[in-house]
Amino acid sequence: MLLQQGVEFNGIVVSRRNYRERDMLVEILTDRYGFKTFFIRGAKKRGFRLAAAILPFSHGSYVGSINDDGLSFIDTAREVRQYQNICQDIELNAYASYILSLGKIALKEDVANALLWCVKFQKAVELIDEGFDAQIITNIIEIQLLECFGVKPYLESCVICQNTKLAFDFSENYGGLLCQKHWYLDKNRLRLDPRTIYYLRLLSVVDLERLSSINVKKETKDRLQATIDRIYQDQVGVYVKAKDFIRQLKDISHFLVSDNERIDVDK
Ligand SMILES: [Zn+2]
Repeated sequence: MLLQQGVEFNGIVVSRRNYRERDMLVEILTDRYGFKTFFIRGAKKRGFRLAAAILPFSHGSYVGSINDDGLSFIDTAREVRQYQNICQDIELNAYASYILSLGKIALKEDVANALLWCVKFQKAVELIDEGFDAQIITNIIEIQLLECFGVKPYLESCVICQNTKLAFDFSENYGGLLCQKHWYLDKNRLRLDPRTIYYLRLLSVVDLERLSSINVKKETKDRLQATIDRIYQDQVGVYVKAKDFIRQLKDISHFLVSDNERIDVDK
């Protein structure tokens, strides 16, 4: 067990739970040490000095002791703010929670460049809070994270002949794209439309740091999500509770707008 004292790191509070009578265990996604659980003594006392720094979706710069294996500790926090939009919007909250949960599961495997992934998860949450399309940001993480689960679909060209010009479809059996000439090889290919294919390819390579805007039609988003869900279901098989919640929210919103009606509520 190695304890590094007085180290500084940036982080996002992922979750927290009560521990004993007055203390808490707070999980933080850090940029230098990955996901870490911190023992916060006296966290439940009134007027606790680090109270704001350990609220859900707080983020900023922390100084503390990092335990290689076991609980870590926070000494001080600086410039800590909460992602306000995520805290106030149940849907944004669900997407951000899902990204962090999925990321944590992925990094349990022995993943190359784990810290680069941590920075990417932090960036994704930040973009969602800034108002970028939460589903698409999540889809980018989902697609790019597939390689950490040992599934890296080949999306550059046809798996068989490297053609880049003909129409494409996606084949789970072949682990990537098939051009029209080779569709006959897989009768279980997903039969995706060109826009879905286009976005699958784009989102698999897009750099979150350089994203300036997102505008994808709802139909395309639905198909994209269905495709990614199918790949996860068939080839990854991880369960994340927040995902079910996102589905339920979608079902509800679909129901609410099904007749082009809307419900306005006074705040
Ligand atoms: Zn081909």
